[in-house]
Amino acid sequence: MPPALAPGPAIVFDRRHLLGIEGLSAAEIDGLIDLADSYVALNRQAEKKSSALRGRTIINLFFETSTRTRTSFELAGKRLGADVINMAVATSSIKKGETLIDTAMTLNAMRPDVLVVRHPESGAVSLLAQKVDCSVVNAGDGSHEHPTQALLDALTIRRRRGRLAGLVVAICGDVRHSRVARSNIHLLTTMGAHVRVIAPPTLLPAAIERMGVEAFTDMRRGLEACDVVMMLRLQVERMQGNFVPSTREYFRFWGLDYDKLAAARPDAIIMHPGPMNRGVEIDSEVADDIDRSVIREQVEMGVAVRMACLDALTRAARANRPADKGR
Ligand code: ASP
Repeated sequence: MPPALAPGPAIVFDRRHLLGIEGLSAAEIDGLIDLADSYVALNRQAEKKSSALRGRTIINLFFETSTRTRTSFELAGKRLGADVINMAVATSSIKKGETLIDTAMTLNAMRPDVLVVRHPESGAVSLLAQKVDCSVVNAGDGSHEHPTQALLDALTIRRRRGRLAGLVVAICGDVRHSRVARSNIHLLTTMGAHVRVIAPPTLLPAAIERMGVEAFTDMRRGLEACDVVMMLRLQVERMQGNFVPSTREYFRFWGLDYDKLAAARPDAIIMHPGPMNRGVEIDSEVADDIDRSVIREQVEMGVAVRMACLDALTRAARANRPADKGR
C-alpha cells in the first residue's frame, strides 16, 4: 500500500521526472509556478521548515560546478524536511559515459527519492533518468535545458508584472551555448510571451526563429519597447573557437549599459541567471540598480521554485502513478 498523501495542494505536475521545459503544457507550468509562489512566504518567515518531504532522500549529483543551483536545491530539500546529500563528481579522469551510468546505478541502489543532476553533456540527464527508479530533476545539461532556471525566471517576472502572456522579453547574449535561453524560450512562448533573442551573428543558433522567436543582432533594435531584458553569460567554457572579437568589443555592442537600456520600456526589468561577468555582458551599475534589476530576486525565487519541483515530483510518486510513465 502506498503511504497516504499528506494534506496540501493538489497534484500539479503528474510526471515522474523534470527533464526540460520543452513539451510541458501551460497548465503544468502554471501549476509549478503557483506552487512555488505559495512557498515564497514560508521562505521569508523565521521558521522556514515544512514536513512535506519528511522521510524522503534527495541526492544532488553535480558533474559540473554550481553555486546557486546546488545550494538552492539543498536548501529547498531541507526546508521541506528531506534528507539531502550533495555529491560533486570529477569527470576528468574517467570516461564520462561510464562515470555517469555507474554512479547513477550505485546511487539508485541506495533508494533515493529524487536525484538532482547537472552534467556538462546535453542529453546526459535524460539518459540517466532511464536507468534509475527514482525521480530525476535536470539541474542543467550542457547547452540543452535548465528547467528550474526558466521556472524561477517566470516566477520572478510574474510577481513583478502580474502575467507572462503578451509581455515582450528580450534574451540577450550567448544564446548559442545557453541552456537558460533554450528553457526560457520554451517556457515563455508556451505561456504566450513574445520572445526576442539578441546576439552577435556568431552566437545565434541557426534557424532559431523556428523556436517561435524573433532574432536580432542589433541590441538597440532588439530592446525596443521590451518589458524584460534577460542577459546571458558568455559561456566561454562551451566555446570551441573564437566567437567574439574581444570582451571589450563585445561589451561595446552587446553589453547592457544605460545607453542601450534606454531603448527598452522605462519600467523594463533586468535579469541575469548568474554568475555575471560584470563589464562583459552587463555594466556593474545596471546590474546593481535596485529600481530595475531583479537579479537578487531571481536567486530568492530559485529556492521556492526548487521546493515546488521537489514537492510536486514526490507528490506524484506518492500517489503511486505508474513508474513507467517516464516522461
Ligand atoms: N547558472 C546558469 C547555468 O548553469 C547560467 C550560467 O552558467 O551562465 O546555466
